[in-house]
Amino acid sequence: MNILLLGSGGREHAFAWKIVNSPKCSNLYVAPGNAGTAAIAENVNIAVSDFDGISRFVEEKNIEMVVVGPEEPLVKGIVDFFQSKETLKNILIIGPGKVGAQLEGSKDFSKKFMDKYGIPTAGSQTFTKDTIQKGLEYIDYQEAPIVLKADGLAAGKGVLICQTHEEAKASLKEMLLESKFGAASEKVVIEQFLSGIELSVFVATDGHHYRILPEAKDYKRIGEQDTGLNTGGMGAISPVPFADQDFLNKVETRIVIPTIKGLEQENIPYTGFLFIGLMNVNGDPYVIEYNVRMGDPETQAVLPRIKSDFLELLFAMGTQQLHAYPLEIHEYCASTIVMVAGGYPEDYKKGDVILGLENKLPESQALVFHAGTQLSSSKDVITNGGRVISITGIGQKLEEALMNAYSQVSNINWNVVYFRKDIGQDLLNLKK
Ligand code: ATP
Repeated sequence: MNILLLGSGGREHAFAWKIVNSPKCSNLYVAPGNAGTAAIAENVNIAVSDFDGISRFVEEKNIEMVVVGPEEPLVKGIVDFFQSKETLKNILIIGPGKVGAQLEGSKDFSKKFMDKYGIPTAGSQTFTKDTIQKGLEYIDYQEAPIVLKADGLAAGKGVLICQTHEEAKASLKEMLLESKFGAASEKVVIEQFLSGIELSVFVATDGHHYRILPEAKDYKRIGEQDTGLNTGGMGAISPVPFADQDFLNKVETRIVIPTIKGLEQENIPYTGFLFIGLMNVNGDPYVIEYNVRMGDPETQAVLPRIKSDFLELLFAMGTQQLHAYPLEIHEYCASTIVMVAGGYPEDYKKGDVILGLENKLPESQALVFHAGTQLSSSKDVITNGGRVISITGIGQKLEEALMNAYSQVSNINWNVVYFRKDIGQDLLNLKK
């Protein structure tokens, strides 16, 4: 099978690694890819939202399946674009259409969906410029802290946790009247603050059937002990020790099943991954957010735990045969450490030569996934983004997985490297 994978992060390198390991893969192309994907597949210099460029390439190379990594092309409607073209409509495309992608692209849409289908989430109301007065009054009735969310995509920055009523009111005015997050904050969701521990559950679905993939916990802040600025993710571990079977059963019955049924009832076709960001509030799961694709860096910890053929999983999703797919999961633990360019998530330098990338451990113990990397004209691997490399360690216990990951991390270097040394430490003493 000829496959085109869209994206260029660590998530896509992990996808590519799984896909090329399938005997069913003939040719894998990655657009635009990174230096890691170039080593195992063929990179193509097409941007993920260049739908015309993508469609020309798909026809030229007889691509049979397109796998969409990031949310941007999904929210912009790449699936609908394919389905509207006579020459493309039979190509399998893994990702939801534009309406389904609203589960991530519009927080107002996802909150209304959850309320309609009784899916547990924080209580909320949505306000616009025209209803700002009601919004300010609504804030008076909330207990602090108060959560304000820009409705649209805001690169992970559109959520404000306001400690006082005054701060919440000032932020609401900035968002609605001064376009703090541009068009993304034309609507603002005001939400109740939930207190608990966060984790994510990943679901593969064909819109009717589903398979629950291993859960993961990510580490979003730049600093150790979860301090400092938010990032795209500094690490992840899977499985999550506090997500016991009882908790995961609640996630399935209270969240996954009603979500898939809701999509069916709304006539929203959905072929793809659903990432459910959850808060564990005293043993009960509440949805913080839906994402309509896999997470990064969670994918790098989740995919190595999938034992069954990953390309067959994608094929089963694309052909509505998921009910017949035998998902098998490895019992072992995976921990991912993200190595970033010094300065990230603020200003950082690109173009530094990366040394020590060859894996010193067998794949059964550590995996090297590239993210912001590129091949220079002299064929050196150089830094090309904030999050540069992610290393996944594997071990029977979390401790061993972390030891393997950090051992591989210690071999890799470039001019100014930073990574968190405390990934998974908070969970080491918890039992699954
Ligand atoms: P991401 O960067 O993960 O895509 P996002 O911008 O889509 O984030 P959310 O995931 O909804 O926004 O929120 C970001 C973070 O804010 C969450 O991971 C969580 O830590 C915190 N948060 C969001 N909603 C709540 C809430 N109701 N109560 C407590 N914390 C919350």
